[in-house]
Amino acid sequence: MRIKRVVVAGGGTLGSQIAYQTAFKGFTVTIYDINATAIAAARERVTTWDQAYVRDLQATPAAIDATHERLSYSTDLAAAVADADLVIEAVPEVVAIKRSLYEQLAQVAPSKTIFTTNTSSFLPSQFAEVTGRPQKFLALHFVNHVWKNNMAEIMGHAGTDPEVYATIVDFAKRIGMITVELKKEQPAYVLNTLLIPFVGAALVLWTKDVADVATIDRTWMLSTKAPIGPFGMLDVVGLRTAYNIFKDVGATPGHADLAAAAEKMKTALLDQGKVGVETGHGFYDYPDPAFQRPGFILGQAK
Ligand code: NAD
Repeated sequence: MRIKRVVVAGGGTLGSQIAYQTAFKGFTVTIYDINATAIAAARERVTTWDQAYVRDLQATPAAIDATHERLSYSTDLAAAVADADLVIEAVPEVVAIKRSLYEQLAQVAPSKTIFTTNTSSFLPSQFAEVTGRPQKFLALHFVNHVWKNNMAEIMGHAGTDPEVYATIVDFAKRIGMITVELKKEQPAYVLNTLLIPFVGAALVLWTKDVADVATIDRTWMLSTKAPIGPFGMLDVVGLRTAYNIFKDVGATPGHADLAAAAEKMKTALLDQGKVGVETGHGFYDYPDPAFQRPGFILGQAK
């Protein structure tokens, strides 16, 4: 099967990027979101990607216009998925929200439709039964700034049909992704198996007041020659998603330090409307974050 018509459920940070990239590569895409306010926000996010495609990919005005022509928006799930070959789920990282969406999708999507999840921290097997089509369900996981961080991790569960898996690998390549194919389920895939403990350790150092944000990032950047530290990475990931992840990890035995870190991030930043790069404010202020200024790693940047 070759995918043609795609629905992206959730037009937030990642959903808006996945939808844009997929439409840019020639597919017909509908963004589904919960209500008119969410759709208006999704439309606005989508238009912000125009400049990124011009800046980073030298996209022509004609290519940008064609991308928008292939994109539509809906708050009617049944209508959106009526003829969909693929639904890419990118709703918040909250089990109850994802489950409820799959329950609704199971009722209204045609039997041909493949569902993929962009979950960062759950496993496809947690949702496989509720989709009503476990053999046509797997994870297709993107990285923030999809057009330039063009890597997608593809992970089935034990019941995923190998042909469906191959269809999604082919689709991911056709929308310009470099695919990382996991042979089995792994919580947090390859990338986040590395990244989550890393940024979590940074948050705990900050929460325990061992060192401040700049000192922690500077330590990492200075010693590894990396261009960004863990707090800069958290701003890119988005602090709402990070909060949801660490609140969940923090609720498991032995991780009270991460629960405290999640709460500190909430009160110090999220409650002040600081959600990261997307809004221009997070641990740093954008578009000119302190860690990119000359002298930062030497402790001289203001
Ligand atoms: P987000 O909060 O920016 O966006 C979520 C969107 O889903 C919003 O537009 C919201 O209105 C919508 N939504 C809420 N309930 C819905 C429902 N029932 N049906 C349809 N839409 C609904 O979240 P995000 O950062 O884009 O994350 C989405 C998913 O992508 C999560 O599973 C997250 O783990 C994953 N992800 C995020 C990143 C990242 O860097 N932010 C990277 C990789 C994967």
